[in-house]
Amino acid sequence: MKLYLDPGHGGTDNGASGNGLYEKNVNLAIALRIRDTLLNNYDNVEVRMSRTTDTTKSLQQRTNEANAWGADYFLSIHCNAFNGSAQGYEDYIHSNLADSSLTAQYQDILHTEITRVNQLTNRGQKKANFHVLRESNMPALLTENGFIDNSHDANLMKQASWLQAVAEGHVNGLATAFNLPPKQAESEILYKVIAGSFRARENAEERAAYLSNRGIDSFIGTVTVNGVLWYRVQAGAFSTRDNAEERLVAVRNAGITDAYIIEEQTITRAPVSSRN
Ligand SMILES: [Zn+2]
Repeated sequence: MKLYLDPGHGGTDNGASGNGLYEKNVNLAIALRIRDTLLNNYDNVEVRMSRTTDTTKSLQQRTNEANAWGADYFLSIHCNAFNGSAQGYEDYIHSNLADSSLTAQYQDILHTEITRVNQLTNRGQKKANFHVLRESNMPALLTENGFIDNSHDANLMKQASWLQAVAEGHVNGLATAFNLPPKQAESEILYKVIAGSFRARENAEERAAYLSNRGIDSFIGTVTVNGVLWYRVQAGAFSTRDNAEERLVAVRNAGITDAYIIEEQTITRAPVSSRN
């Protein structure tokens, strides 16, 4: 799934402003968090952004880029402004689209997930003839994440935890709409050569010294079996069984005839879940 992610405005175009905030900066902060959270937690997704810094880019450039890339979805991030008293969240698809269209179905899903977590008044799902919705060749959604000139909404925009929650709402919607697979924990098997297990640490140290005198490095680890602590002398850990077997022969030739190999699964990276 190829996501074209578009933080609205930027550079010389500040977008709306109010309460000491520029819309372009809030949009970018949310979008960067969407990108990072999405890529950290899901597979089968690529993200291209219209901008990752405070740079100027025309609307035409943005839709041209998404179309040329062949994006599957165009997601534009904005904040609103009106008269200071209006507040809340709303999102838009293009005015010509039927409620039964795929784009409208994606809107339903993202709207549900975003409004679940964004702590904003829900102003509903809307349609408009915006450039990015009209000129993009793929389903497109524009989200208006609060009113920057409203003190309640702007106060939320100043909080990192709110920016992250809003990003996660978007990510959860994308994951559901495009059926993205969550990243699995990565693990690897390690083959460990064990040259003795002892209840007393000094016995383990004695064994390690014995091996060292015969040119075999080892270290002492601990393992608890049925509530009993053991000191385990490990004479190497290998990612292939062949290498472990080779070391095992060396250890046995050094006189530790009851040495053996254990397989252990090691988690090398666990994904952080954004869904709870
Ligand atoms: Zn805007």
